[in-house]
Amino acid sequence: MKACLASGWSLNVPVLLTLLVALGVVLMARWVSRQRHFPGRESFIVLHLGIIWWLAAAGLELAAQVPPCKVFWASMAWPGIIGVPTLWAVFLWQYVNSIREPLSLRGFLLLGLGPLVASGLALSNPWHQLFYGPGTLPVDGTPGAAIRYDHGPLFDAVAVYVYVFMVFCLALVTRAALASHGLHRRHYLAFVLVTCVPWGANLSYVVYGWTLFGFDPTPFSFAFTLVAFAWLILGVRLFDLLPVARHLLLEELPDPVLVVDPRRRVIDANPAALVLAGQSGGWQGRVLADWPVYGAELEAMLAAGEQELLLTPAGSSRYFEVRSRDIERVTRGGTFVLGQMLYLRDVTERHCSELKLAEALATSEERLRTITRLHEQLQEQALRDPLTGLYNRRYLAELFAREMARSQRERAPIALALIDLDHFKQLNDHHGHLAGDDVLRAVAIQLTGNLRGSDAVFRIGGEEFLLLLPGATGEESFARLHSLCQALAGQPLLTRVGRLSVTLSAGLAVWPDQGETLDELMQGADAALYEAKRNGRNQVRRLTESTLD
Ligand code: GH3
Ligand code: MG
Ligand code: MG
Repeated sequence: MKACLASGWSLNVPVLLTLLVALGVVLMARWVSRQRHFPGRESFIVLHLGIIWWLAAAGLELAAQVPPCKVFWASMAWPGIIGVPTLWAVFLWQYVNSIREPLSLRGFLLLGLGPLVASGLALSNPWHQLFYGPGTLPVDGTPGAAIRYDHGPLFDAVAVYVYVFMVFCLALVTRAALASHGLHRRHYLAFVLVTCVPWGANLSYVVYGWTLFGFDPTPFSFAFTLVAFAWLILGVRLFDLLPVARHLLLEELPDPVLVVDPRRRVIDANPAALVLAGQSGGWQGRVLADWPVYGAELEAMLAAGEQELLLTPAGSSRYFEVRSRDIERVTRGGTFVLGQMLYLRDVTERHCSELKLAEALATSEERLRTITRLHEQLQEQALRDPLTGLYNRRYLAELFAREMARSQRERAPIALALIDLDHFKQLNDHHGHLAGDDVLRAVAIQLTGNLRGSDAVFRIGGEEFLLLLPGATGEESFARLHSLCQALAGQPLLTRVGRLSVTLSAGLAVWPDQGETLDELMQGADAALYEAKRNGRNQVRRLTESTLD
């Protein structure tokens, strides 16, 4: 140190060149620090400080005139010499893996140990001479001549330490370059070059003793690094295009996005995903199933091999449509799934309107059902007689038209019978109108009980009924009505005033022979009924030629 203070300085070409490179690096560091945020930004900036340190020490060594002073500055360069590859490795790791959090203090201290120990070993060399051996002497006797370093075992050990980092860096960027395409691949290839050139320079110096201005060429190779970065930044818009694209896609995206690796560990999450999960730091590498708020549901979805899910995060009133997409890498050996991207699209508004719509639809469907039911009830009521529950005259025309069409197709007859209770007025007079109603109801039950498949019974007047027997011939219908008539006469009906006997008279006409329309048929049946009454009641009459006369 004292030797250095007493020594003269020379501002020669190599010194100026070193200063120039250092200036370039300062400007670069300043420029990069003003860039948008990109993964590993902090490490990238500290890395430049390491380079500057190294260059400064190299410049001072070049400028110094006395050998001990040169060795002193060479020793002072070691924090930079070790720090640069270490920080380069950290930066690449963060950049390639999109790790946005800066290196933890523990990690920083741990990685700082190497440069610290190496510097200690180099600076304490005068006492042990294991770093630079006794052969460390100027190349010739001229003042300010470069030093030829005699590398001791400690130097070699430190060199190996540095190379471990360099190999790691090279492997990392090579792997990233192989895994990516297009512009991304070009970026990573540039990183490979930026990694290789200074390392190659250093290797050629350590192994083959190549020098530039009698000096380790590594710091000068940073000039190449500068050119390479200038090209990356200005030529292919590194830190601009790549992070901006990421920025736009993920950072600015209001919808949460997560990336999980094949072991279902969250390796990336955008701010929206972190906010929804209430996460701030230390989340990287966390198992998806343990991810707060919505991790378990996403895990279940992936475990079931499903691609879509409607998610309602716990404690939230929002709805998310989750889609998973495999992140694949196609190699010659086949396609490998590197992980999955989970995209949570906020569909709250859409889902709520769907729910409202479904609710409204259900309400109107229910209303429609009620209206239809009421309508059917009304229609039924309009067609039925309230006292007996039988069809009334309104329904007769409709049913007859239907049956007539069918009978025409099937060439089958339709029998129509008009039934009138005998002396019903008297019954009313003797037992009261309510007892008369009871009789009407009981007769209706009896008539209905004797119906077959397509038969129908109507109450068409006070104590008048009509039977429609599709498919029944004259004989058949006569026989059925006759037995009905006898059954009624033979069995008194239960009423509120006790059992009452009642008889009926019936007139029968058959379509189409005795009437082609309902009116004609009813007229015929009425004429036959009149005959039955005239003949003493309690009987069935068919329409005959004589009836019509
Ligand atoms: P006939 O044997 O000639 O038919 O004699 P009838 O007494 O039955 O004659 P008519 O057809 O003139 O009388 C029908 C009676 O039926 C008149 C009316 O008091 C009674 N009647 C009509 N509608 C109802 C009703 O809804 N309830 C009751 N209890 N009686 C009714
Ligand atoms: Mg009558
Ligand atoms: Mg009557």
